[in-house]
This record gives sequence, structure tokens and C-alpha cells, in this order.
Amino acid sequence: MAGLDQVKSKISHQDRSKRFGHPGRIIWLTGLSGAGKSTIAMALERRLFDAGQNVYVLDGDIVRGGLCADLGFSSDDRAENIRRIGEVARIMADAGLLVIVAFISPFRADRDRVRDGMPAGRFTEVHVSTPLEICEQRDTKGLYAKARAGELTDFTGISSPYEPPPSPEVTLPTEQLTVDDCVDRIAAALT
Ligand code: ADP
Repeated sequence: MAGLDQVKSKISHQDRSKRFGHPGRIIWLTGLSGAGKSTIAMALERRLFDAGQNVYVLDGDIVRGGLCADLGFSSDDRAENIRRIGEVARIMADAGLLVIVAFISPFRADRDRVRDGMPAGRFTEVHVSTPLEICEQRDTKGLYAKARAGELTDFTGISSPYEPPPSPEVTLPTEQLTVDDCVDRIAAALT
């Protein structure tokens, strides 16, 4: 808190990296609903865990049920949602974990704010770039049908905008790739 002397941790970032065998970082998956974020996040978590890394997934649907249960889908609430997730992810990465975040996170400024809060090179942005038509065909959760019927408002891609990242570290057109290919591409970007 401002005005109070802060007692600093005696454990450095380097100490933690040495203990865990890797630096903490955020791997941020962004894309439309149904693009494949959760599927890829869980497959990536398995791959990194099996390789001995300390990894955890923060998934949009799960977090919205708890930490952000008070928030809706207006622009302000979406910004606050991403601010909270970004803060939790930053703290977990600071503790030394590889944190995979799987959120639609449609607004560029909200994502960039999280990147700006991280040390250089420790925020990997992954655009799961599946086109709207394919996401809508998949409609894994039946949400597109509801949005088209007007039963859901502020639905990303239909009645609320999605701003693609201009220069993500990784782009995954899942309509041309297997889940394994997607995991390979992210893993390659981390080494
Ligand atoms: P999101 O988390 O982005 O809303 P989900 O992971 O819940 O998306 O759903 C994506 C759907 O697309 C799943 O049914 C998944 O099996 C399918 N899918 C097909 N190809 C891929 C791929 N290459 N990567 C990820 N998902 C894929």
C-alpha cells in the first residue's frame, strides 16, 4: 500500500526459475467462442506437465463461474474480467508457474495491458484464429444459435466485436491444423 514500507521477498526470479527449471510466464490464448482455446490449453497443459514443467490453465468458463461471477458481458465488465484474470495470471507467473490463459479476451487494449504488466519475453500471445463461420458450424456450446436467435446479447463475433491481435507470437488457424499441431507450434515458441 502507498506510504507503507514494503518488506520484499528474499527469493529472486532467478531462484524460482532455477528451482522449477523454467521461468514463470503467461501463455495467453485469445479467439472467438468455439475457436479451440480450451481444447488446445488442456492439451498444451498435458504436454508441458509431462515434460516436467509446472503449469496450470486458467479457463474462461471456469473463472467466470467464481472469481468473476459478478461480471457480465458489457465492455466495462469484459475489461474488468480481463484485468482480474491478468492480475491472477501475473501473480501465478511471478510464483514461477507457466500459466495458460484461455479467454475470448476480445479487446486489444485489455490484452495489451496484461502484456505491459509482464517482464519482457514472459507473455506469449496465441491467436486461435479459427474463422467465425467454422466456430459457428462447430457451435460446441449451442451459443451461436442462441445469439442468432437474439437470446444472448453482446455475443462476440455476432453482436459484440472481436479485435484480432496485430502481432501475436503464435497464430493457429485450427481449421487447417490438428490439436497436436497447435500444441507443437506453441511449444516451439516457448523454447
Ligand atoms: P473455445 O475454448 O475457444 O470456446 P473449445 O475448445 O471449447 O473452444 O471448442 C473447440 C472445438 O473445436 C472442440 O470441439 C474441438 O474438438 C474442435 N476442434 C477441431 N479442430 C481443432 C483444433 N485444431 N484445435 C482445437 N480445437 C479443435
